[in-house]
Amino acid sequence: MSAFDYDLFVIGGGSGGVRAARIAAGHGAKVALAEEYRMGGTCVIRGCVPKKLMVYASGFPAAMEEARAYGWDGEVGRFDWTAFRTRLEAELDRLEGLYRKGQTSAGVEIHDCRATVAGPHEVKLADGTVKSAKHILVAVGGKPFVPDFEGCEHVLTSNDIFHLETLPKRMLIVGGGYIACEFACIMNGLGVDVTIFNRSELLRSFDTDARDVIVEQMQRAGIKIRTGIVIDKIDRQGDSYHIHASDLRDEVYDKVLYATGRVPTTDGLGLEAAGVKLGLRGEIEVDDWSQTNIPSIYAVGDVTDRIQLTPVAIREGNAFADTVFGNKPWTMDHTMVASAVFTQPEFGTCGQTEDEARAEGPVEVYVSSFKPMKSAFAGNPDPVFFKLVVDKATQIVKGCHIVGPDAGEMIQMVAIAMKMGATKAQFDATCAVHPTMAEELVTMKAPVRTE
Ligand code: NDP
Repeated sequence: MSAFDYDLFVIGGGSGGVRAARIAAGHGAKVALAEEYRMGGTCVIRGCVPKKLMVYASGFPAAMEEARAYGWDGEVGRFDWTAFRTRLEAELDRLEGLYRKGQTSAGVEIHDCRATVAGPHEVKLADGTVKSAKHILVAVGGKPFVPDFEGCEHVLTSNDIFHLETLPKRMLIVGGGYIACEFACIMNGLGVDVTIFNRSELLRSFDTDARDVIVEQMQRAGIKIRTGIVIDKIDRQGDSYHIHASDLRDEVYDKVLYATGRVPTTDGLGLEAAGVKLGLRGEIEVDDWSQTNIPSIYAVGDVTDRIQLTPVAIREGNAFADTVFGNKPWTMDHTMVASAVFTQPEFGTCGQTEDEARAEGPVEVYVSSFKPMKSAFAGNPDPVFFKLVVDKATQIVKGCHIVGPDAGEMIQMVAIAMKMGATKAQFDATCAVHPTMAEELVTMKAPVRTE
């Protein structure tokens, strides 16, 4: 008989938490999980899933235009946001139900309430009840960060977008990362007049050539992009928002969305009182095993601010559960993690940018940019873009950057080869699949740059 109520108490029912809870329960642990909002967390409820459905929704006008070039007769009519949102909500309810069922079927006890850490082995529920656990896993994720300025209370964040009553006519999006660029393309596709303001270049941390291609196509699609702007005041006048920034005349928008990064949600979680070490951004400091300085307390996912991606949180949660409860120790390898930015055009990326790779030594850079068959036939001028960054000495492919339709799907496949340490010669030894866009990955013969 254990001295604790549970072997594991998980705080947070997002991607990392539910995976850890289910795997630990599968290994025979007695597990409880507390979630204060909805099961599924950011990814399912207010992130990847609803966002991707909105990406699909926003793609139909362009698809219809292409269809006409292929001989189809028809027009896209008016977009019914309310009808879409109702369906989206039903889908999220369904998914939340599946997440809940996955937990209960595995034997995890769910507490639908906020929980905080009350000690190395204690968790306090919202009603004041204290539960004890041999291990505690904190997987509470992150939240949008909005800088502090006059009128910042008027802005929306990505949490609010799915709940809008109506779509705005003119929208300002502030930021230049994943979320800002994705929502700019979504809203533009849905017929909203979109402007982006960012303090620096868009997609700054990504490969320069790739991001130039994306930015150019976003602009061609009608998105207005202004860099080097920091807003110092937003005035609300009725239903419109007046923007004040240096070098800017009074500009007016119907909605302002801030997508200026996300920060760990550690406020008021009782971590400092329990002695858990936090970093400068409030992130929980963990070692490779996701263990904090308090041996019984672990943390996975965005709350640790390692790589803020769903599949990373899932693997961290899985590794933790296998290690602590399954007698199968392993750690998440945070290198060569591929990701996709669901802009239009889509962007898939894995490994180093050209600049990062060059900082480590001489590289060979292979680039292919061309109009793909499907959209070229329809008269669309937008090219697709493929780039491989190869280490000159070892010939290992250190970076791959793809811009174009289904780039996210393609980069997942390339990531397997890259994770295995494939060389350019091994890419080239693979016979092409024809006619595809992806065949460029194995047919790029001469480097465009070598130094
Ligand atoms: P990002 O970190 O991607 O981008 C933040 C942007 O905000 C940058 O352009 C940054 O500018 C700007 N910024 C940061 N601080 C300020 C400030 N104080 N004032 C003005 N501008 C500021 O954050 P996101 O919010 O877009 O996304 C958060 C995370 O969520 C991402 O890092 C990603 O890991 C994850 N995510 C992943 C998705 C996917 O996989 N498809 C989709 C959505 C989110 P600068 O470049 O100058 O620093």
